[in-house]
Amino acid sequence: RSKDEGKDRWSYFTSDMKIDSDEEARLEQELRHALRRDEFFLVFQPQVDNRTQQVTGVEALVRWQHPTRGVLAPGAFLDVMEKTSLAVPLGQIVLDKAIAAAGKWKKAGLHFGRMAVNLSPSHLPSGTLLQDFLNAMTKYDVGPELLTAEVLESVFLDTERNHNWHVLEELYDRGIHIELDDFGTGYASLSHVADLPINGLKIDRSFTAQILTDNKKEIVVNHLIHLARALNINVVCEGVETETQFERLRMMGNFSVQGYLIARPMTFDQMTTWLDASPNDLTYFI
Ligand code: C2E
Ligand code: MG
Ligand code: MG
Ligand code: MG
Repeated sequence: RSKDEGKDRWSYFTSDMKIDSDEEARLEQELRHALRRDEFFLVFQPQVDNRTQQVTGVEALVRWQHPTRGVLAPGAFLDVMEKTSLAVPLGQIVLDKAIAAAGKWKKAGLHFGRMAVNLSPSHLPSGTLLQDFLNAMTKYDVGPELLTAEVLESVFLDTERNHNWHVLEELYDRGIHIELDDFGTGYASLSHVADLPINGLKIDRSFTAQILTDNKKEIVVNHLIHLARALNINVVCEGVETETQFERLRMMGNFSVQGYLIARPMTFDQMTTWLDASPNDLTYFI
């Protein structure tokens, strides 16, 4: 390996970093404005029981109504939010809006199972999370039995582990469900899962996408589902896009599914209509 090669790579890397950090600084500024101007809103995606088709939950997913670029998904801005101090205020807004929506459906007598909110990894150690939940729950008259917090496996494993663990246990003890998101992409093993204060796990859509083509993935998913059941842990299978995937999963047992096959994420009004139509049999989406 020549010295020149190393040098070239390094200078390329630094100039690249510079562009990135300029862009990031600009985005960070825009995001600050966005928080002040209330440009964030939620879309909702249902989770349904794969036998009865009953709605078991609705996941709230954040979107940014950008002034010039249209509606942006979290992939376009969440990383920068996490790197700065903005993830906590965004998390507070998301909690408030999600629990407000849950309150409206509750008042309207619409069954939606639980409202599932994605927690930012930085919101957990912030010291405000529990109070943020309680404030919104009081404000919109929503009890813990209507709420789920979705967290990444990593929140139990990082340096804040002890504190995060404590905060999640507080939510758990109050009856808010805790679910491990994107299960299978991180480090958690099922033996570890048995000791966590969690009610469920969401099998990542990268598994769902491969069950039909990769026999080993299918075996892993099948065992995850059976072990979770044995441990009395709920399962949501993410990213179900086709009838064939749905049918294959159905052969593995009775659990919840979420994905484009059932419904794409929708606006509050669309979700209200969807819940109101309250499908009674599987032919509704198959
Ligand atoms: P996630 O929590 O795993 O959410 C599922 C993602 O998969 C969503 O993307 C959803 O739109 C997408 N999806 C659902 N069904 C299907 C399907 O059948 N096929 C495919 N290809 N995709 C499907 P989205 O909304 O872009 O969110 C991406 C990630 O951003 C989420 O992954 C979550 O980790 C994070 N996120 C979303 N909303 C929030 C939020 O309010 N707060 C925080 N902290 N993170 C959020
Ligand atoms: Mg999620
Ligand atoms: Mg997920
Ligand atoms: Mg995911």
